[in-house]
Amino acid sequence: MLENIIPDIKFLAGVGSKRAEMLKKELEIVTADDLIRYYPYRYVDRSRFYYIHEINSDTPFIQIKGQILRFERQGEGRKQRLAAIFSDGRSTIELVWFQGIKYALDKLRTNTNYVVFGRPTLFNGKYNIAHPEVERPEDLPPAEQMGLQPYYNTSEKMKHNFLNSKAIQKIMTNLMLQLQDVTIQETLTSDIIKQYSLMPIKQALVNIHFPQNAEKLKFARQRLKFEELFYVQLYILHQNKLREQNVKGFIFSKIGDFFNTYYKKYLPFELTSAQKRVIKEIRSDAGSGKQMNRLLQGDVGSGKTIVALFAMFMAMDNGFQAAIMAPTEILAQQHYDTISELLGRMNVNVAILTGSTKPKERKKLHNALISGELHILIGTHALIEDTVKFKNLGLVVIDEQHRFGVAQRARLWQKNTQPPHVLVMTATPIPRTLAMTLYGDLSISVIDELPPGRKPIQTYHYFMNKHPALNQFLAKQIAAGRQVYIVYPLIKESEKLDLQNLEHGYEYICDAFPNLKIGKVHGQMKPQEKEVEMQRFVGGLTNILVATTVIEVGVNVPNASVMVIENAERFGLSQLHQLRGRVGRGAEQSFCILLTDYKIGADTRKRLAIMTETNDGFRIAEADLQLRGPGDMEGTQQSGMPFDLKIANIAQDGPMLEIVRSVAQKVLENDPVLLSEKNLILKNQLKKLKKEPVNWGIIS
Ligand code: ADP
Ligand code: MG
Repeated sequence: MLENIIPDIKFLAGVGSKRAEMLKKELEIVTADDLIRYYPYRYVDRSRFYYIHEINSDTPFIQIKGQILRFERQGEGRKQRLAAIFSDGRSTIELVWFQGIKYALDKLRTNTNYVVFGRPTLFNGKYNIAHPEVERPEDLPPAEQMGLQPYYNTSEKMKHNFLNSKAIQKIMTNLMLQLQDVTIQETLTSDIIKQYSLMPIKQALVNIHFPQNAEKLKFARQRLKFEELFYVQLYILHQNKLREQNVKGFIFSKIGDFFNTYYKKYLPFELTSAQKRVIKEIRSDAGSGKQMNRLLQGDVGSGKTIVALFAMFMAMDNGFQAAIMAPTEILAQQHYDTISELLGRMNVNVAILTGSTKPKERKKLHNALISGELHILIGTHALIEDTVKFKNLGLVVIDEQHRFGVAQRARLWQKNTQPPHVLVMTATPIPRTLAMTLYGDLSISVIDELPPGRKPIQTYHYFMNKHPALNQFLAKQIAAGRQVYIVYPLIKESEKLDLQNLEHGYEYICDAFPNLKIGKVHGQMKPQEKEVEMQRFVGGLTNILVATTVIEVGVNVPNASVMVIENAERFGLSQLHQLRGRVGRGAEQSFCILLTDYKIGADTRKRLAIMTETNDGFRIAEADLQLRGPGDMEGTQQSGMPFDLKIANIAQDGPMLEIVRSVAQKVLENDPVLLSEKNLILKNQLKKLKKEPVNWGIIS
């Protein structure tokens, strides 16, 4: 939008070809548009002077007027520092220098008027300002003109070349001067701007860099966040519409014998109302003529498997085959066992295919698949190997989706000219706001209810001195017939991280429980050895399984009732929750014991508090999002975020995200592929969004 006015930023005052090059390399700023969208990361209020007595722990960067009363040299040698006692006429505060002491002493005088500028920090119960900017008042423009000063992120390399925040600020000033009398084209329609009382684009861009006041800044930020989130949603929903128009889905038009017979004769328990609701949602998708892309979220133990089974019956009732993909062999095997058991005497052909399926068996399977004799195939990624061909694959269920690579999923499609319906099951709950952005084109179903009769897992946090008491507790549980997991963060002792480690722990446990059978699994064992150990535990041959996080996903041992997590401070929230989900799967009361070092940080304390407080995966995911931010959320790294967010923050801007989603929905309802004159702005803007998004419509 600015290309016509400023075709090349190197001609902008303060830039030049060298800096233009650096802006490109370091910040990916190429055009004037990029430049104006490089927002400050914070602002400093230079519109007024503070009094020292006003300072509290929320005080941002501030300026104070006053004089230096005296200097004090403190400390010795390397720890030397300079303190200047600064008075605003009412009270005093220390200005502190750790470096550049000589320079400060040369430059500064006592009994001279200064404006001091910096962020107060609390040290030994007193506020001080370290390395402040100190200016003579006569060198500064009047305070009213200073307003809120923008600060920009720059790289080390840029700073070395004097392209620091101040320099960027100067460049922005020049940019704004050039734009003064220029109209900047709106990026949102006037309807939207009016309805949500948004600040016009030019005013917002001016105020985001040089806010006239705090109020204006607030509106500018709101406007730009709105716009950013709106385009994320519009992009995703627009892609959906296009996909719906272009990709036809198989129509599962009828509910037939498989479904009905199972429901009436073999269903081993009453479905929860959440399960029923989700089955209905799947049914409505699969009958619609559109290809289903549905994310099924449900906490561990919420009963996703039976829902998947009913979805597969729908496929089979309409003459299609179904497949389940799991991330590991153990899980594929467990799905196979569970499904076989659930099916009981139902006449359904199910088979399993993994990396270790023997060639002869494999051949037989291939034939049964191509002839259509096989109804359900369960497997690992072996299932998407080229030689596997289905007669007519109608539904694919993918378990624990975040373990699957995007490319692997894409290959599934080569099995069919028409893509099968897809049901992605995950036990990693994703907060709604995040799901809306990351998986905006997947419909979402949630099982938010556990089967009846479950006892909530009791979770406790202890320090490491509790080991002896804990051992007594474990012995009691095992005497009562239960089994125990003990999880360690590392396999081998590392010098850097002074952690309990699995080998050490294994020995300790063997010593502590000489009469019990102790197993051990970790990621560096051969898959077969791992499998053997796991099977021994599943079969009840070992009482205690000492493990790393390899047991995190999906393994089902209902008899295991205690999960001990050593160095729990080392694990993220969602990981802790996943680990805890390994217990609480049977009728007995289960326990999760989180052991930590004595020294733990504030964030760890919060994580542990949430764990001991709730078993609700969604609350935990929400807290995780707040604590860590969306970038680190498990399962989001390979996600399809269409473009980076510059100003909006998914963890904080949830409510706005809900609004913009409905706005985007309304726009597309009236004009599905943005053909109307009125929406031309939106269409053009969408086109400009550069980074190619991952197209979930095709690969999920
Ligand atoms: P997950 O969602 O973790 O995959 P599963 O599908 O493995 O959960 O179900 C966990 C356990 O709960 C299984 O033993 C399953 O048979 C049982 N289950 C599922 N649904 C119900 C229900 N409606 N009533 C009672 N038990 C159920
Ligand atoms: Mg499961």
